[in-house]
Amino acid sequence: MILLTNYEGRSGVPRTVELLKNKTNAIYSIIEGIKLVEENPEIHTVGANSLPNLLGQLELDSAVMDGNTRRSGAVGAIKGFKHPIEIAYHIMTDIEHEILVGAGAERFAEEIGAEKYVNETEYTKTSWEEFLNDHLTYEQKEKFPHIRLLDIKDKPNDPEHLFDTTVYLAQDYSGRIATATSTAGWPWKYPGRLGDSPIIGAGSYADSRYGACACTHTGEMTIRAGTARSVVLYLKMGLSLADAVYESVMDLAELKTGFINAVTVHAIDNKGNYKVIALNPQKEIKYIVWHPDLKEPQVKNAEIMRT
Ligand code: ASP
Repeated sequence: MILLTNYEGRSGVPRTVELLKNKTNAIYSIIEGIKLVEENPEIHTVGANSLPNLLGQLELDSAVMDGNTRRSGAVGAIKGFKHPIEIAYHIMTDIEHEILVGAGAERFAEEIGAEKYVNETEYTKTSWEEFLNDHLTYEQKEKFPHIRLLDIKDKPNDPEHLFDTTVYLAQDYSGRIATATSTAGWPWKYPGRLGDSPIIGAGSYADSRYGACACTHTGEMTIRAGTARSVVLYLKMGLSLADAVYESVMDLAELKTGFINAVTVHAIDNKGNYKVIALNPQKEIKYIVWHPDLKEPQVKNAEIMRT
């Protein structure tokens, strides 16, 4: 048994650990933890209280994968719901698709009775207004939102290095491995942008036979490198967990064009080992691990690699 999460996921860890200890299956255990992160008012990059896109709309992404069946469920750019992770779970269990986005995803969410939510926190509203104030010309402000968003003078940037999805990777008492992710993507992203969090194989992948991987930060890179699937495939090919993660980080480091920034790769294998490497981070990257030999979950620093 093991649980590995990024630091952004800390508010849900005690709940997931309690469930895993009680022999609850890995999928339910990680979903229950992530729900607590999604509704945490202190977290501005995951769930209901996150910073919005360029138009001030909150678009959320999430995915879950069952390593026993390799079924997954993912939702992209969904607006107006509290728990994208629950919607992703129901996509995995209630419909013969793996990903739903936009209006169709919202319709599906209503049909399964998902809880609605509109983010009206003061912090979110003021941060977005400050962003517009600093980055739009007088003319653009007059015409907003009927402007070419591509013309905004600086590229949208993360205001407080707030990049962070939450990722949970777990193996339960029965050996089932599962992953789940939830994110608002980047603050001020172009409307409709999907990162890696809802893309199985890029932002997460689970296979109970070998292990699992989930990534945070620059989804534009892990989508191109197929990072999460690569780690599990390297494990299948016989590499150790440390070598599998290292190889996938080298694949990312090879990318030279497009948007290049930090990526953190989190992985576990089916023997209870874990490994986290942060490529070119702008700050210290922490993660949380728990397994039955540890009384309490431990916060650790990721190994750092720079190019
Ligand atoms: N990976 C996420 C994305 O690209 C963002 C993050 O983890 O900070 O949407």
